[in-house]
Amino acid sequence: MAPFNTTQGKGKLSIVATPIGNLEDITLRALRTLKECDVVYAEDTRVVAKLLARYEIKKPLQRLDAAKELEKAKTIVERLEAGEHVVFVSDAGTPGIADPGARLVAFVREHAPKVKIEAIPGASALTAALSIAGVDASEFIFLGFLPHKKGRQTTLKKIATGEYTVVLYESPHRILKLLQELDTVGIQRVTIARELTKVHEEVLVGTPVELAKDLEARGAARGEFVVIVSVVE
Ligand code: SAM
Repeated sequence: MAPFNTTQGKGKLSIVATPIGNLEDITLRALRTLKECDVVYAEDTRVVAKLLARYEIKKPLQRLDAAKELEKAKTIVERLEAGEHVVFVSDAGTPGIADPGARLVAFVREHAPKVKIEAIPGASALTAALSIAGVDASEFIFLGFLPHKKGRQTTLKKIATGEYTVVLYESPHRILKLLQELDTVGIQRVTIARELTKVHEEVLVGTPVELAKDLEARGAARGEFVVIVSVVE
């Protein structure tokens, strides 16, 4: 089979989803792409190094974090123009979903419009959480991480209207604070998906106060959390 770039004389950018915990959650296509590419740009090279080691893949690794996304994008465009196959992976899950990736893709699309940009889909905490939450996710709003300051209260009040199922990401440092805030705006029922695909994966349902108490009592306000506030029926 002819190499992918003979027709265009241009390289290819593959945006590859990686596991969100369990290293087996990676597609065959993602593994093939990682084996075939010339270079892997990663949000954190140490994280991707573990994944590559698990599958015995050896590749040159370069860092591309949110702070350097545009600066590195220029170098990537040069490499793509020279015909290289570049992979980008974020630390976990799907790049661009509350992670770097979007600015790189937009930059490449603008400055190297002939370059093929392909999605190699896979895990995301968003879809994994909804798949076992037992809430109707035929319609929902994903807000990612709530803003820390400006707009936080307004957004919380909008969530409290109960009009839409809302999915949030939260860090362990702020999960108890978020539950307290959800209680303050009057939310009665929350679903938390914690440590998805990992040994301590669990789904908890209750009032924000019940869930906060439970997490605190078990010392479980650690790890990673997806918080779902479902429609009030
Ligand atoms: N790009 C990722 C994705 O596709 O889901 C999200 C990256 S974002 C920086 C990290 C947040 O995603 C965490 O703070 C948590 O809210 C959520 N998350 C990631 N992995 C998770 C897991 N294994 N279990 C629960 N939530 C997770």
